[in-house]
Amino acid sequence: MNQAFDVAIVGGGLVGASLAAGLAPSGLRVALIEAAAPPASTPGWDERCIAINHASRQIFAALGVWDALAPEAATIVSTHISEQGRFGVARFSAAEAGLEALGYNLPLRAIGQTLWARMLALGKTQLHCPARLESLEVGDAAVELQLADGGSLSARLLIAADGAGSRVRELLAVGSERRDYAQSAIVTAVRTRRPHRGCAYERFTPDGPIALLPKGREPNRCSLVWTTPAAEVDARMAWRDDVFIAHAEAAFGERLGEFVELGRRQAHPLARVMSDQLRAPRVLFVGNAAQSLHPVAAQGFNLGLRDVAAVIEVLGMPGAELDCGVDELLQRYEASRREDRERVAGFTDRIVRVFSNRLPGLRGLRHLGLLALDLAPPLKQAVMWQNLGLGGSTPALARNGR
Ligand SMILES: Cc1cc2nc3c(=O)[nH]c(=O)nc-3n(C[C@H](O)[C@H](O)[C@H](O)COP(=O)(O)OP(=O)(O)OC[C@H]3O[C@@H](n4cnc5c(N)ncnc54)[C@H](O)[C@@H]3O)c2cc1C
Repeated sequence: MNQAFDVAIVGGGLVGASLAAGLAPSGLRVALIEAAAPPASTPGWDERCIAINHASRQIFAALGVWDALAPEAATIVSTHISEQGRFGVARFSAAEAGLEALGYNLPLRAIGQTLWARMLALGKTQLHCPARLESLEVGDAAVELQLADGGSLSARLLIAADGAGSRVRELLAVGSERRDYAQSAIVTAVRTRRPHRGCAYERFTPDGPIALLPKGREPNRCSLVWTTPAAEVDARMAWRDDVFIAHAEAAFGERLGEFVELGRRQAHPLARVMSDQLRAPRVLFVGNAAQSLHPVAAQGFNLGLRDVAAVIEVLGMPGAELDCGVDELLQRYEASRREDRERVAGFTDRIVRVFSNRLPGLRGLRHLGLLALDLAPPLKQAVMWQNLGLGGSTPALARNGR
């Protein structure tokens, strides 16, 4: 006989694991199905990082994982956005926002391991891992799930946290809009001659943006994310380290001095994938399964974590303990996420398009845009609150303690 749950989460990546950790104290019976073995990678000076904003830190605190993550976090106290060959610069600082930090750069490994450790310590989630969702059937009262290993279970609510190529979307024939940016992000780490002083830099070049963010506790260590046209990725990945460093320095400029050491490189092809729906009968979509964004504004996981906060809020409402898959609750989730999702996804896409365009007229406009951003207080405030994750209708878990 099938095991019966209130909630089945498909996907235990950063978003699904956050949700499982967040729902563990709820009293709901939760199962998590994850295809890959639990995160096991070890620390390294050049490991991949994710920048989280103020709202995400609040959510992590509410999930009970921030204290464990804080020792691994590099604090971002300011940002500096510029365009190669132009004087216009936009700067944001934590002091202007009245906060101690704009955000934090954290190893992906640390986030994954901490969330899984929290979930295991709470001991409430039934794990199916490694196990892959193979097929499903939506009934009136529950969703029946079949796993590739022959196992099966049922849940009143299925939450798809299974990434940009969501199997749940595919099985339910939920459409998505995909835009291939014909770019890849080359991600690595560098040690720089000058200290970053907690500043996250983003510099737009005719070939795409290059970003350097504080990394770990060393004053001279940075994550480097270099957006690269698809046609040039293989060549850049094959460059000798000294050649890569010379080109990256030329693109980034001299603000942090020479790059003195380079880490391993990884390339990630970039596309935007927007699910046509955030809900289907007895199903919700969260994280990359709902929307997968270009990393230019470092918003993808931050947005996904606000999806998680919204689900926790909705499932905490009266009646959810009786049946958490009823349409009324799913509609509330969808309504609460629409504005934040559209604004952040639209903003991110506009940045990619405006700054990837080589038309000479646009260069001048970009320059004016950066200047305006720096000089016009209301515009600057609006962009800053958005980047902090507090721009509009954000879930309560993200606003607490603001
Ligand atoms: C280069 C780069 C840099 C980025 N930097 C940032 C940043 O600084 N800040 C930020 O906020 N965001 C950033 N992002 C975005 C961020 O990485 C993603 O938004 C986030 O990791 C998505 O997490 P997820 O859990 O939704 O999806 P995923 O990480 O894709 O996880 C999906 C999980 O589902 C599992 N799964 C899939 N199918 C099945 C199945 N059938 N059965 C069971 N399990 C299944 C997979 O194994 C996987 O573990 C960046 C992205 C890129 C590419």
